Amino acid sequence: MDKKRVLITGAAGFLGSHLCDRFIAEGFDVVGMDNLITGDLKNIEHLFKLPEFVFYEHDVSNYVHVSGHIDYILHFASPASPIDYLKIPIQTLKVGSLGTHNLLGLAKAKNARILVASTSEVYGDPHVHPQTEDYWGNVNPVGPRGVYDEAKRFQEAMTMAYHTFHGVETRIIRIFNTYGPRMRLNDGRVLPAFIGQALRGEDLTVFGDGSQTRSFCYVDDLIEGIYRLLLSDYSGPVNIGNPDEITILDFADEIIKLTNTSQKVIFKPLPKDDPTQRQPNISLARKILGWEPKVSRQEGLKITYDYFKSLPEEALFKNEHNNFEKYIKR
Ligand code: UDP
Repeated sequence: MDKKRVLITGAAGFLGSHLCDRFIAEGFDVVGMDNLITGDLKNIEHLFKLPEFVFYEHDVSNYVHVSGHIDYILHFASPASPIDYLKIPIQTLKVGSLGTHNLLGLAKAKNARILVASTSEVYGDPHVHPQTEDYWGNVNPVGPRGVYDEAKRFQEAMTMAYHTFHGVETRIIRIFNTYGPRMRLNDGRVLPAFIGQALRGEDLTVFGDGSQTRSFCYVDDLIEGIYRLLLSDYSGPVNIGNPDEITILDFADEIIKLTNTSQKVIFKPLPKDDPTQRQPNISLARKILGWEPKVSRQEGLKITYDYFKSLPEEALFKNEHNNFEKYIKR
């Protein structure tokens, strides 16, 4: 029998590269695709020698061609940090909208099942807490986060339309804050920001008064949830995240203890439209996937800290690790 073949977009990114590893371990052939705008080939270089893996450098906002059969598509290409989508807002909108459209078209042509990576950001600054899948959200379309949030909301609508109108098998995952090895140390998100600051001997920058909350999920738990959702028969959106909620100020204290740094917290202005609270309600994932997170924040942070410590010294002081300039047309 032919092996199952999966196309993973955003393959050189944080989540995409972990997905490549998982699907290869499960016996799939993997086609990785990435335009390397925020991804890094280092995340997948260990796969290049494997016959089960091929990689294409391509921007999925443009027409996507893959020869041969494809059984599954996982669309994980997108800038995912608020700092990134401020810098590349149009690319962010395009990959979530045009990119999704291209991949849905490919799924239809190949008779493949497609899972798209949506986000807790579809809930915006939520008025329902914890967030359930039936909450429609509170998003500012013209705010700085709008380019990501609205692209992902469009993505969900387009995915449902392909499902109902064309009968394409679709899955939608709403991903909450996730962390682990292969995050970019300088991507601006809170966990790499705090750990990077501790490692460089800088104070930890808490935005606002630090009373806003997030709920952090370790990457292995998330990948397990994605795997189960892909193989399930549920086509509505499903939250995957860890409900263990913490304020950003308490989180900074945890990182100070973890890294044993003598630095302290300093306060900086809160970015516009920064959500005040976020926690996934995962009852649906528990019910239909039998899934719940297994890795505590204490365990996950330790693994992630060890990863960041193992990076070469220059990674700590690099301003940005991406190819924005290559892509931005001025
Ligand atoms: N944050 C912070 N200091 C930083 C980076 C982020 O206090 O150096 C805060 C940010 O304002 C937000 C939370 O940490 O309230 C999580 O930010 P992140 O960028 O990781 O992701 P978000 O969940 O906002 O998309």
